[in-house]
Amino acid sequence: MRYVSTRGGMPPATFSEILLGGLAPDGGLVLPQSYPRIDDATLTRWRALPYAELAFEVLRRYADDIPEADLRELCARTYTAQVFGADDITPLRRLDTDLHLLRLSNGPTLAFKDVAMQLLGNLFEYVLARDGRELNILGATSGDTGSAAEYAMRGKRGVRVFMLSPHGRMSPFQTAQMFSLADPNIFNIAVQGVFDDCQDMVKAVSGDLAFKERWAIGTVNSINWARVVAQVVYYFRGYFAATASNDQKVSFAVPSGNFGNVLAGHIARMMGLPISRLVVATNENDVLDEFFRTGRYRPRSSAETRQTSSPSMDISKASNFERFVHDLLAGATGQVAGLWKDLETRGEFDLSGTPEFAGIADFGFVSGRSLHADRVATIRDTMQRYGVVVDTHTADGLFVARQWREPGVPMLCLETAQPAKFADTIREALGVEPPRPAAYQGIEAHAQRFTLMPADVRLLKQYIAERVVASLAA
Ligand SMILES: *Cc1c(COP(=O)(O)O)cnc(C)c1O
Repeated sequence: MRYVSTRGGMPPATFSEILLGGLAPDGGLVLPQSYPRIDDATLTRWRALPYAELAFEVLRRYADDIPEADLRELCARTYTAQVFGADDITPLRRLDTDLHLLRLSNGPTLAFKDVAMQLLGNLFEYVLARDGRELNILGATSGDTGSAAEYAMRGKRGVRVFMLSPHGRMSPFQTAQMFSLADPNIFNIAVQGVFDDCQDMVKAVSGDLAFKERWAIGTVNSINWARVVAQVVYYFRGYFAATASNDQKVSFAVPSGNFGNVLAGHIARMMGLPISRLVVATNENDVLDEFFRTGRYRPRSSAETRQTSSPSMDISKASNFERFVHDLLAGATGQVAGLWKDLETRGEFDLSGTPEFAGIADFGFVSGRSLHADRVATIRDTMQRYGVVVDTHTADGLFVARQWREPGVPMLCLETAQPAKFADTIREALGVEPPRPAAYQGIEAHAQRFTLMPADVRLLKQYIAERVVASLAA
């Protein structure tokens, strides 16, 4: 398996070569040259596999330059009941005839990003040790991604994490989750500014190529290919849990922001998983819903990006979307490059009226959006009908899923976070505190460790350099 760029300007590379990287050198995203097809007999065999074994089977088709015994061991070490709370890792909860929740949020930070990030932590440690390298991960977070990255990388050899967050702007729960970590390779930096300031600082440091190389700066953002592949696994797992044989189809509803999660569903479908619909659910920030309805892709400015009660979907552009457009255009890399050129010059592109957009139904994608009132009503309704408390993002998914159900086709709604993370809206909807897992009781009272910093790139670089030198000396 070799990897190329969506824009055509990268020589084929191995999985190990692209694992630690971000964008392709031509500004595109990396993709495998083709998706492996899974035949019926293999699908039947996979039904019976425990999660870690299934993960190995999917991964080895994409990471074929890692020795199988090592990859199997990495998967076995990642997907344990100890880390994910249950042997099934991503249990299916039936709500109603043909309506299910696929629970992805039982990992250490109570959101679905753990499923991929926990594997990434082990993969990074493995590859860095093999190659005698180190990596300093630099990121900006307003909540879920940063904590998932820190819980995946804590204590890993050869990796340090420098995570910027806007001082005083995360929820007390999320702040406590990140700042209570005491591992010496985790550095929390509370920036005196807003999330955009944090992101600008990360961009400035990553854009200084000499600094980046000298201090081995890397990222773990949602365009990381290994994260996408790790997410493919639970689409297979969910399918097996909801069906008795391979003749049946299912649909998935996915609360979406950067298009990473639902892209994994698209890849599972391209591999041959019998998926009927992939329902893209957005919140008020509806750039993806607009595209799937009209063919027009129009990223928003940060000023146009709304702060909502499903904050992990508050995105201005969908960073993984280019991978799907590449497939929609049947791999015409020149055309993809042209569209992203249009985005730079005109701020949008429009595929309406093209034969490719006319054929979009062949990819199974449909979409819808959910507003604050919809999500509150859905949380209430889900509690009344099924006795289940869902979080705000999952509620967006459920709300949109309702509009796209088909008789006889199980609809699996991806539960992307636990309600404990978004207590304000749960209180608004239900008038009670959301349930909180025992391990998180009283987490706000734990000692917190972070560095307060003005939004100053020079200070950030100095801080990183000093900490790396100090930890090498220790
Ligand atoms: C990240 C996140 C999403 C959005 O997922 P994408 O892969 O960015 O589309 C949805 N819900 C929750 C809780 C998240 O943390």
